[in-house]
Formats: sequence, C-alpha cells, structure tokens
Amino acid sequence: MTWGEILIQGTKQLKQADIASPNLDASLLLAHILGVSREHLLIHGDRALKPDEIPRFFGLVSRRIAGESIAYLTGYKEFWGLSFQVSPAVLVPRPDTEILVEAVLSFLQGQSLNEGQSSKRSQKPEDNKVYPGDRASGGRSLLDLCTGSGAVAIALKSACPGLEVFAADISAPALEIARANARRLLSGGQSLHEGQSITFYLSDLYDNIPGIFDIVVSNPPYIPSEALADLPGEVQREPRIALDGGRDGLELIEKIISGGRSRLTSGGRLFLEADSGQMAAIALILEKQGFQNILIYKDLAGLERVVSGKRNE
Ligand code: GLN
Repeated sequence: MTWGEILIQGTKQLKQADIASPNLDASLLLAHILGVSREHLLIHGDRALKPDEIPRFFGLVSRRIAGESIAYLTGYKEFWGLSFQVSPAVLVPRPDTEILVEAVLSFLQGQSLNEGQSSKRSQKPEDNKVYPGDRASGGRSLLDLCTGSGAVAIALKSACPGLEVFAADISAPALEIARANARRLLSGGQSLHEGQSITFYLSDLYDNIPGIFDIVVSNPPYIPSEALADLPGEVQREPRIALDGGRDGLELIEKIISGGRSRLTSGGRLFLEADSGQMAAIALILEKQGFQNILIYKDLAGLERVVSGKRNE
C-alpha cells in the first residue's frame, strides 16, 4: 500500500466517525508515523509503506476516533511557530493563547493597545526570528505562572532573548516537559549559558519563587469546577489541575492578582488569560487591588481573552 492510498483510507474512517477535520488529522497522524513533514508526505504519495507502518497508522486512527487529540497522539503541538512536546501531563497550547504572548510583546515594545482593541497579528515571527522589540526587553524580568508545557514562557524567551524569564508550575511532570521544551526550542542545538534559558520552579503560584519581576504572566486554570463535566471529550482528557479554576473559575486568578502586588516592580504589569465572561469581574479585582490602566485584548474569534493591569507606581 502507498502513502497516498492509506491516507485516503484513514481519512474515510475518520470522516465516517464524524471527526471534524478528517483529511488534516489523517495526514498529521501518517506524517508522525513516517517521521516526515506533512508537505513531504503529500508530495510523495506514491511511496510504499513498510509493513509495520500500516497497523501503527490504523491504531492511531482508532484512538483518534475514540476521542484522543492529535496533540496527545503525536506528542507535539505547534504554538507561536514552535513545535512543543506535550503529554497528558500538560494542557495542549491553544492558538488563542498566542494573544497573551502578543500582549506582553506589545507592552515590551512600549505600545499599549487600547481597551477592547484586537491585537495585531503582524508581530508573530513566522520564521522564529528574534522579535525586533527585543531591544526594549533587555534586562527586564518576567515570571510565567502555571507554565504547563512552557509554551508562553518559551515563546516570549525565543522572541526576546534579552528578557530574563522565570517559569513555575505546581506539577512536577508538567515542569519536566516544560524543561525539555526549553532545552530543545531555545538552544538551537547548542548548550546554553545561564541567562540564555529559563529558570524553572516547582511552586504553588509564588510560594517557592524569590524576587520581584517587571512582568507577571499566566494562563491559569479558569474554568468553573461545575462546568468541567460539560467540556468536550478532548478537553476532559487534559489535566484537571490545568483547567479547574474553583467555584467561579477565579480562585487562582484572585491569588495571582493579590500576590502580584508584592511581586511586581513599581509600574510592572500583570497579564492574565481568562474567559470573556470573566473579564469584567477580573478588571474589578485588579482595580480593587490597586492596579491601574487596565487593558483587555481580544482573541481570534473576537472574544475578550486577555486582561492586563499596571501595578501602581
Ligand atoms: N482555554 C482553555 C479551554 O478552553 C482553558 C484553559 C485554562 O483553563 N487555562 O479549554
């Protein structure tokens, strides 16, 4: 059987099972099994499969039909043009979370987006080149809480190598993945000196982390506990600890904001991802805690997804 033929069969099985993007999913799974890029796979459809590749491919197709995500099946997910290792120990990085990265970059560059204004997409370095705003980030420090796979911290460090980046998670298995991602994605194959990489902490929010920071950023768990049971099957397979935000979804967000007062430099800024329905409540908490100049950033669907506030000077 050829690459092209098995792709057609896999696509058909996924389509019959009502998988939303059968063609894309089949090609991602086959490219993973073959160890080639999707582009390479599509160009060389007439190549013959090795015998063991056939059952391995259909095994993954069955698991996809049973509800596992492509990210967990292949062990990788693209975020900010970088390929992150993922496992069921971490939340799969979402495209919308790139807004969190962009909001921090626009702050570093000295731009502040107007409230409610959608952030520009032009800043994303398609070829992973260093972000031009890096000049402005030299010597500044950033702490990423609930880092998970390390996606936000690593995207920011790769865009701004001059930024001193610290990242923390309460989960030891998640931190192992974040460290592996940092080693692979930030080194370009070289061994890194101190300052060229990220300092990781196993920590419940700020608990084990010393010092103060110019920026605190987090995509914390923010789904209300009672809403967890209604999430789609793929999300249900993600770590509950990465999703469960307590009674109204705001438990961790409240702690991050109140702790941020003593962990941010004067004039430093706190950035949080949350659900659009939570933005008004979060803006109020930020105000009550003395944060100023509160900004809200919209995601790709036009929903309010990120909020930031400046620690009073
Ligand atoms: N945006 C995620 C979702 O829709 C939630 C992630 C989180 O709680 N941080 O599943």
